[in-house]
Amino acid sequence: MTTPAVPLPTLRRLPRYHQYLARLRDTGQEQISAARMAEVLGVHHTQVRKDLSLAGCLGRPKTGHRVADLMAAIEHFLHWDNHSEAFLVGVGSLGTALLKYPGFGQAGARIIAAFDQDPAKTGRKVGEVPVLPMDKLPGLAERMHVAVGILTVPADAAQAAAELMAASGIRAIWNFAPVTLDLPRNVIVENLELFASLALLLRKLADSSQPAAIG
Ligand code: NAD
Repeated sequence: MTTPAVPLPTLRRLPRYHQYLARLRDTGQEQISAARMAEVLGVHHTQVRKDLSLAGCLGRPKTGHRVADLMAAIEHFLHWDNHSEAFLVGVGSLGTALLKYPGFGQAGARIIAAFDQDPAKTGRKVGEVPVLPMDKLPGLAERMHVAVGILTVPADAAQAAAELMAASGIRAIWNFAPVTLDLPRNVIVENLELFASLALLLRKLADSSQPAAIG
């Protein structure tokens, strides 16, 4: 029997729910209802209930959910409790910022090594993460069974770096470079398009500034 596919919007909303729950936990709140979550997060309550039930969280109508149980269920559902070890390639402005960001652990991925072609960047640590020369990547990825790669090289270097990752056994690539990667079908690619998101924001701003039509 195959597991039914979870809708992408649900997968995108669950981390938001988790962030909100973590804030509640930090203030000492122990119980929460789906209706209250819906109100605070601006999502319809039936959608929140559906998302939570897809993640295996069954609330009780009267008391709602225990915050800790909800967080654990979401973490389990998103495999955050089963940390994926990741390599990062390209220790420039963006790569350095990601390496210094402490939140990946909570989101299920742990960057255990970074790689760069520039010898001036290798042989040191950024945050806790060692930066190594590129020729170390294939052997280490295979030996450590690393499945996740984070790609933060310039656009013109991205395809070759991604191919090296794939040939080294990396099966999922989080791509920040603004290029469409051409890789074997068994390699999963998730493109993070920061500028597309910014363009959307600016478009919405422009639309909201239009004078209302006189009808
Ligand atoms: P950067 O020039 O600061 O850093 C790139 C790093 O990649 C350098 O350390 C360089 O030595 C390394 N590199 C180059 N070719 C390589 C190769 N073949 N193998 C291994 N390492 C290599 O660039 P950046 O600003 O950090 O941006 C990185 C990528 O992320 C770019 O594709 C950029 O378009 C994208 N991006 C950046 C930002 C941002 O805010 N900086 C935002 C969105 C997207």
